Amino acid sequence: MSVWDDVVGQESVVDGLLRAAEGGAPAHAWLFTGPPGSGRSAAARAFAAALQCGEVPRGCGHCASCHQVLQGTHADVEVVRPAGLSFGVKETRELVLRASSSPSGGRWQIVLFEDADRATEAAANALLKAIEEPPPRTVWLLCTPSPEDLLVTIRSRCRLVTLRTPPVPAVAAALVQRDGVDADTAREAARAAQGHVGRARLLATDAEARARRAEVLALPRRLTGVGPAVTAADALVRAAEAEAKAEAESLNEAETSALRQALGESAKGRMPRGTAGALKELEDRQKSRATRVKRDALDRALLDLASYYRDVLALQLGAGGDLVNEPLAAELRTAASAGAPEATIRRLDAIMACRERVGANVNPLLAVEEMTLALRTG
Ligand SMILES: [Zn+2]
Repeated sequence: MSVWDDVVGQESVVDGLLRAAEGGAPAHAWLFTGPPGSGRSAAARAFAAALQCGEVPRGCGHCASCHQVLQGTHADVEVVRPAGLSFGVKETRELVLRASSSPSGGRWQIVLFEDADRATEAAANALLKAIEEPPPRTVWLLCTPSPEDLLVTIRSRCRLVTLRTPPVPAVAAALVQRDGVDADTAREAARAAQGHVGRARLLATDAEARARRAEVLALPRRLTGVGPAVTAADALVRAAEAEAKAEAESLNEAETSALRQALGESAKGRMPRGTAGALKELEDRQKSRATRVKRDALDRALLDLASYYRDVLALQLGAGGDLVNEPLAAELRTAASAGAPEATIRRLDAIMACRERVGANVNPLLAVEEMTLALRTG
């Protein structure tokens, strides 16, 4: 194995990063961009490991340093993963301060900032100052969906690393090799996830996730009138909320118990004096994250729904190529021959408009209802 195993279908990016890690002093700031699920943070983490690794090739995957970076326990690699929708200036200033210290044993002091686009304006300015005058051994690895998500002044000081949407065969191969998934399931999951590696892995390994996706794809045939459209909207929002709740709860539980232990919880579950503040702070972070998790779950469902109509459109236009939802081919063909491409495009537009509105904090049920009404066939 090597530290690059998690970076799927990005050969030229990996080559470039490997060369940079093997060369002398790397640039002080790097910006990893790519669509969601393309593996921005996986690439940044692998690069961090390669920079710290003392073996040849860099990022051997076997030495203690490589293991620590991949497990997130390396003393000189700090991973910042904003829990909520935004990352504030106070946290950023603290981060900048820690980043400016010398590495304790590693070769570089590395900060890997996932979702750096969540930095507030004030936070971004604090970050800019740090990147303008970098201490000699500090390396910043920032990740955002696209370069435009960062202040141009930050972006222009970063070496840009652009990931592509990994091709379906590369994702399927990774699922077979790394996760031991059988070839058919891997191919179907990779196709359904449309180049989102994490989503493909979840679909390939979690029957419940597959069932939820199937529910979403069953929606179009139910939208036969106003009544069913309203009912379907309600069901879609509830399902996304239930999924998000389960996800948030499992994250919260692990975090809370880890923090309670770290703060010195007694065998009877009593907390020492003066620890209430820290627990409250964690609770606030978790609440902010819950909002994001809920929004993400709904967005995922909307993207799955869009894939249905994209398949219908491909069939209507005779575009050829694989369908995203191959198992539904017969139904998709019927839907394609029953309507015109213009109507399908209008439906796709309605889904994209709904995603935007949910992203802009419109009440999800209202946004989704408007969408299902626009999608209905009767
Ligand atoms: Zn190594």
